[in-house]
Parts: sequence; structure tokens; C-alpha cells
Amino acid sequence: MSFAGKALRVLVPAWFILFPLLPLPEYWVTVGNYIGMYAIVALGLVLLTGVGAVTSFAQAAFVGLGAYTTAYLSTRWGVSPWLGLPAGLLLTGGVAVLAGSVTVRLSGYFLPLATIAWGLALYYLFGTLEFLGRYNGLTGIPALSLAGADLAAPRRMYGVVWLSVALCLWLLLNLLDSRPGRAVRALASGRVMPEAMGIDTARYRMLIFVAAAMMAGLSGWLYAHLQRTVSASPFGLNMGIEYLFMAVVGGVSSLWGAVLGAAVITGVKIQLQDWLPLLLGTEGNLEIVVLGAVIVAVMIHSRDGLWPWVARQWARVQPAQPSVVPPAQEPPGFQDMSRRPRPARGQVVLEVGEASKHFGGLVAVNRMSFQVKAGEVVGLIGPNGAGKSTMFNLITGVLRPTSGEIRFGGERIDTLGSRHIVARGVGRSFQHVRLVPQLSVLENVAMGAHLRGSSGALRAALRLDRREEARLLYLASETLRRVGLTDVMHLPAGSLSLGQQRTLEIARALCTDPTLLLLDEPAAGLRLKEKQALAALIAQLRKEGMSVLIVEHDMDFLMGLADRLVVMEFGTLIAEGTPAQIQNNEVVLAAYLGGVAA
Ligand code: ADP
Ligand code: MG
Repeated sequence: MSFAGKALRVLVPAWFILFPLLPLPEYWVTVGNYIGMYAIVALGLVLLTGVGAVTSFAQAAFVGLGAYTTAYLSTRWGVSPWLGLPAGLLLTGGVAVLAGSVTVRLSGYFLPLATIAWGLALYYLFGTLEFLGRYNGLTGIPALSLAGADLAAPRRMYGVVWLSVALCLWLLLNLLDSRPGRAVRALASGRVMPEAMGIDTARYRMLIFVAAAMMAGLSGWLYAHLQRTVSASPFGLNMGIEYLFMAVVGGVSSLWGAVLGAAVITGVKIQLQDWLPLLLGTEGNLEIVVLGAVIVAVMIHSRDGLWPWVARQWARVQPAQPSVVPPAQEPPGFQDMSRRPRPARGQVVLEVGEASKHFGGLVAVNRMSFQVKAGEVVGLIGPNGAGKSTMFNLITGVLRPTSGEIRFGGERIDTLGSRHIVARGVGRSFQHVRLVPQLSVLENVAMGAHLRGSSGALRAALRLDRREEARLLYLASETLRRVGLTDVMHLPAGSLSLGQQRTLEIARALCTDPTLLLLDEPAAGLRLKEKQALAALIAQLRKEGMSVLIVEHDMDFLMGLADRLVVMEFGTLIAEGTPAQIQNNEVVLAAYLGGVAA
């Protein structure tokens, strides 16, 4: 680390700690407190919106819930603020569970619209309820006190506020660097990939919705005891939008961006409030108009906000280290990790019976029947549009068959969701790769190990999951070694070549400990050497008793590898047999040559 890097490591925290001790006007400390309170809300939004892709306009209302709870309890019932905090967090969390249970299942623009509805509903509730003082709100809220010391002065509250920011930051940084954190990060890529890794997307969306709401509730508690009076106006929709701006301007891709965004938006707003009336000679809310223009300018310049720029400057003095590193040696307990028993060779593993899939009038899969046995490599081939990927989606529960049935290990799986099918031992890759491009190759592969661990969000946030985490990361790194991607383990997955990304998907699928592995065009985009390595890997997996079903166009690749080929055309099975039989099959040749033969 360079000297500048070391100096910054000391100077940045020192600035935060010494700030209230500087001979600055009290007003500046108050501004610092507000930035901290906003940052807590924005941190929750980075988790919710930036990482989890769930956009919420309702955060200000959750701040209000936290503020009103402690305000009401302390002014009407004389309850200590230190009890008002857990009460506020419980209430915010509870309301978020209720709101979330009907909201987070929504997709597209319905979800943000629903949060607007929640935000408005709560806002009007605050202003309407008699016992909350209607639009006048509640006044005379006591200041915090700790061990007899009164914390009313902004300089003292500063410590409480920024310790809260630091705590939230620590918890979230821990959370994101863990098994549940990877599940949350997977959410942004839609539902199909995470569910195929066994991740319960509805549950994790709910988790971050509640976590973000509770952080907003914490901010509200701080606000109530700093401001000492609450009324509905700061908890309206406009503030909900402003919180989103803070997260977006700072940079939704990084937690640190939330702090930056809160500081920048607050700072710019204050400056505009001071300077605009002088410049324009008018009063009014013109600063909002200018602020809006500034935000749009930032967005046009960089969709990831301001943080990436700061991170680049930081990287100059302090070269980036991979943040997630697997243990160099086998961690204790690694051998005990649950591994599925392999069925006896030759036993039927997968049985597709008369399965059909209709998309409206289009019959994509038409009464397909075939089997895959234990330790067998089966190629599923056919011209483009034959229905091969749709067949994969039927087997893995992404789609439900219109009719027919699919059995795995004798059990019907066509009525199960993806996540329950992978839990039974069906791993897959995707024809169009689905990964989280910003995350490292290692972390992407570790997503496949989701069901091999059990740590929850709280354990992870408190860093009590390290033993299990070491095992999961070791598994991921060992699997990467197997597929030959060790060298690129710490690179962002998005920077890999398409061929390597496909190989990454195979490693990820292998981490699910499959009995049956479904590979959708794994050799597409691979160079000859890589294809040979892939063929060797698949042959080795077969030797270990795994069954593999491969969709592939490269016949040379399949001919030497597959035990059997199943040929589809227009959704229908047209031939089945050994590669040698299929090579000389008239019907198949006609299908591939299309109208030419006819
Ligand atoms: P293959 O993988 O063999 O190239 P697909 O299974 O992707 O073929 O597609 C089979 C047919 O089903 C194609 O005509 C395709 O356009 C159609 N199809 C696939 N998925 C959908 C969908 N979700 N909605 C409507 N049509 C689809
Ligand atoms: Mg396909």
C-alpha cells in the first residue's frame, strides 16, 4: 500500500470522528447529523434497490413510522427512548412484512407503484390520526440520554447518529459478503437463475424489503430525538423520492455510495437554498428544480452514480484486493458437507412421459418421451427452434408442461418449482448465460452452493457464518479448479469470454451437487482446446456416476462423448439411438437438411 493509501486510511475515519470537535458553527454539525440520518435510509435503499432491484418510494413513510412510534410512546406514556427504538423497529418491520407480502411479489412497474401507494397511505395516516396530533404532529419529545448524560446537543447526537451509520454499514457489508448476500445479489438477474440455484427469491426480496424498512425506522428514531418534534410533512412522497435520488446519485452499486449520495444531495440542496435567491432574486422552491437538473446530469454522465469515480481515485492510492478469497487449505468440516448418494449405474434417473408445452397456438414440445439413466451422457439435438431449451425448462421447473409428466428418481417433478427440483439433484446451465456480471467468478460459482449451506441473514450480518462460508468458498474454488478457471477466479464474471462464462455456469451447476446435469449448448463459443477440456470433464463426471443431458449443435463434440442421442424436430421426438445410428438415420438427415432433401 502506498503512503497516500495509508494516510487516507487514517485521515478518512479521523475526519468523521473529529468533525464535531472542530470549531465549526453548530449548524454544520446539525447538517452532519442529517446527512448521517439520510445515509442510513439510503443504505437500506442500496440494499433494496441497488443490489436487490426492488425499487421503493415508501422509505420516507417507514422513517415516519419509526419517528412517530418513539414520539408517541415518549410523549404520551413517558416511555424511555431506548424502548422506543425496539418498538419502532418492530412496528416498521411488522408493517413492512404486511406491505411486502402483497408488494414484493409484483413485477415490473407495479412494484414501485405499490410502494408509492403504501407511502401515500402511511403519510396521510400520520396526518389524520387524532392521537398522532394530526397535521400539527407531536412536540416535546425528550432528548436521548445515556448514563445520565444528556445527548440533546447536536455535537453529542453526532456520535449516536454516526455510530448508527457505522453499525448499519458494517452489518450490510457483512451481509453482502455471505451466502444470503449472494442470494440477494442474484435477485437483480431475475427469478429464473436464482431459483435454479435453490434460492427462494420471494423470501430474499421480503428480507431486504424488511431490512431496508427497519433501517428507515432507525433513522426515524434518531430524527425524532434530534428534532424533538415530529409532523407528517418530512415523511411524504417527495422525501421518499429524495431518498431514492441519494442512493442513485451516490451509486446504487456500492454501500459507500449511500453515504456519499446523502452528503452530496444534502450539501447541494443547502448551497442552492443559500445561493439561488441571491442569484435569481426570487424566493420559492427553485432549488428542487436545479437539484433535479443536477441529478439528471449525474445520471447522464454515469448511470452508476458518483461512487465509481471515487472508487477509481481510491484505487490509485490503494490497489484493489479481491474482497472474497477462498481458504488456501481445505477448511475443517469440508468433507462432512452433505453429498447426494448416486443412484446405481443403469438405473432410470429421468423419465419424460408424453410431455407437451404449448405457447398459445405454438406447440413447442409435443408429447416427448425419453429416459436418462444413471451414469449416462445423452445428447438432445435438433434444429433451431425444435424445442430443446423448452424441454430443459420443463425438466427444471421454469415452465410447467401443458400435459404429460416428468419423473426424477421416480418422483413426479413437473408440478414442482425450480428451487425444489435443484434441491433434488438436477443442476443446469443456460443457453443464454445468466450470471451477475459485476461479481467475481468465485462468488458467482458459490451461488450454486446455496443449498449446501444454511446461514441466515442475521448470522451473516453478525459474521457468525465464517466457518460455513469458508467451506462454501472452498467448494467453489475447488470446482473452478476442476473446470480450469482458477486463474480468473477473482475477475468480474462479466469480463470473461463467452466460452469461459459458459464454463463458469457449469461450475456453478456442479456446486449444486447434481445427480443429473443439464447443459444447454455448453460448447458454443469455446475454442477447440476448451472443447476438449470440457469433453474430458463430462467424461470424468460420467465416470463418477453423474448423468448428463446435453443440448449441443457441435456434432463432433457429441459423437465422441454421448452414449445416446435424442433427436427433436418441431417439438417432436423423431429419432433415438447411439451416435452411429443417428448419423445414418434418414429422417434425421432430412430434418437437418430441411427442405433441401425433399
Ligand atoms: P431450441 O432450444 O430447440 O432452439 P426452443 O425451445 O428455444 O428451441 O424454442 C422452441 C419454440 O418455442 C420456438 O418456436 C420458440 O420461439 C418457442 N418459444 C420458446 N419459448 C417461448 C416462450 N416463452 N413463449 C413463446 N414461445 C416460446
Ligand atoms: Mg435452445
